[in-house]
Amino acid sequence: MTTIVLPPYDDVVARYEPVIGLETHVELGTNTKMFCGCPTDFGGEPNTRVCPVCLGLPGSLPVANRAAIEATIRIGLALNCSIASWCRFARKNYFYPDMPKNFQISQYDEPLCVDGWLDVEVDGEMVRIGIERVHLEEDTGKTLHIGGATGRIHGATESLVDYNRAGIPLVEIVTKPIPGTGAQAPEVARAYVTELRDVLRSLGVSDVRMEEGSLRCDVNTSLNLPGGPWGTRTETKNVNSLRSVERAVRSEMLRQAAVLDGGGTIVQETRHFHEDTGDTTSGRSKETATDYRYFPEPDLVPLAPDAAWVEELRAALPELPRVHRKRLQEQWGLSDLDMQSVLNADAVELIEQTVAAGATPAAARKWWLGELSRRANEQGIELAAVGATPEHVAELQRLVDEGKLNDKLARGVLEGVVAGEGTPSEIMTARGLEVVSDTGALTAAVDEAIAANPAIADKIRDGKVAAAGALVGAVMKATRGQADAKTVRELVLSRLGVEG
Ligand SMILES: [Zn+2]
Repeated sequence: MTTIVLPPYDDVVARYEPVIGLETHVELGTNTKMFCGCPTDFGGEPNTRVCPVCLGLPGSLPVANRAAIEATIRIGLALNCSIASWCRFARKNYFYPDMPKNFQISQYDEPLCVDGWLDVEVDGEMVRIGIERVHLEEDTGKTLHIGGATGRIHGATESLVDYNRAGIPLVEIVTKPIPGTGAQAPEVARAYVTELRDVLRSLGVSDVRMEEGSLRCDVNTSLNLPGGPWGTRTETKNVNSLRSVERAVRSEMLRQAAVLDGGGTIVQETRHFHEDTGDTTSGRSKETATDYRYFPEPDLVPLAPDAAWVEELRAALPELPRVHRKRLQEQWGLSDLDMQSVLNADAVELIEQTVAAGATPAAARKWWLGELSRRANEQGIELAAVGATPEHVAELQRLVDEGKLNDKLARGVLEGVVAGEGTPSEIMTARGLEVVSDTGALTAAVDEAIAANPAIADKIRDGKVAAAGALVGAVMKATRGQADAKTVRELVLSRLGVEG
């Protein structure tokens, strides 16, 4: 295996222009599947949420799910698309074991929503991302390859298929090609998926959990010489977090530049993103549309959404995330710059929920952008996956406000929360981290400190109150930081007969 030496990123963007494109699949949160009545909730025993329709048994006939069509139209409207007044489902023919019918019901040349846009903010600048289409299809089942080291089919001893997911309504949102982003291409890709996720969440159409696969992203990347024709694009699959969207674009830009620099050509193909290494490896060569032999689905009637219904849905759209964030920024009293750091940390919703759980905006922001962001960065994970919930953070702050924890002890409690040891109160008790408020014990510690430092005690008695800091420090050390510094200081002064 040859090792390719990757050129520096700055050098790549100085010589090449990237064009990116994103295809996002969203599992809708409907109660039932797209073409049958099977339930859709995540996590059931394998192959327990299936019926003749979603197993593709002979003679079974699909019926389209109205709630899924409505959700797709609402997504299209939120993304400023035109809604088709008449369109059809299409059969996409290919063989894969996780697709029992050997075709997928999708949409091809007649998508439900076309030609929209989504504005996203990158470093304070607005970038308008064109939306090519939003269409509706059904999800496939899940294949599990076991017995091998990698979880892939190579080296596996058995492959298992779970059809619970087969037939869950899936919306595919495809951007137009996005040129002109230069060195910011990775950030633009991430900002787009983040904004899209927030829009979908505000619509309430999906739980948009990338880690559970209800939001999945394929990233198209190509490079061209400045002013030249666009290059051949690759499609990177398996991009399962916002952070990975950014990494996948960057990594593919570097790889393609190395290939082009060496006089090679880019092959149009599907590539797999690897979370652990952050690079991509070659998958299958990309099929073209003709390989799928699309034709109008003969078992379903055409879709013809009534114009009045579409207008009704448009009028009922919720406040979109951009407007919502503006309102929060005012409520929280944040500058544009401070709000930007909240956005960059993907902490808007976490802070909002922490405030709803009883913390002040300032306290919520302090924990999420401080200690918790630091931990998320260290581990290379999303902030929301760090192990603390908004309720935990609000409770932690309440314990600080009640004087049961000081800042240092609170960080110790937070460590326990992140490690999954329980709620802040439980951890405070279990780890013995509560501030020592027992005056008897504290007085003994203060008397010990006075006895051990007679010269300092004399200075304080002589009126040099500032010297009390040294004794307070000694007591804090003796109590392993578990005393309240203010109380200790008052005790030191009163034991030495000095007014505070
Ligand atoms: Zn079914």
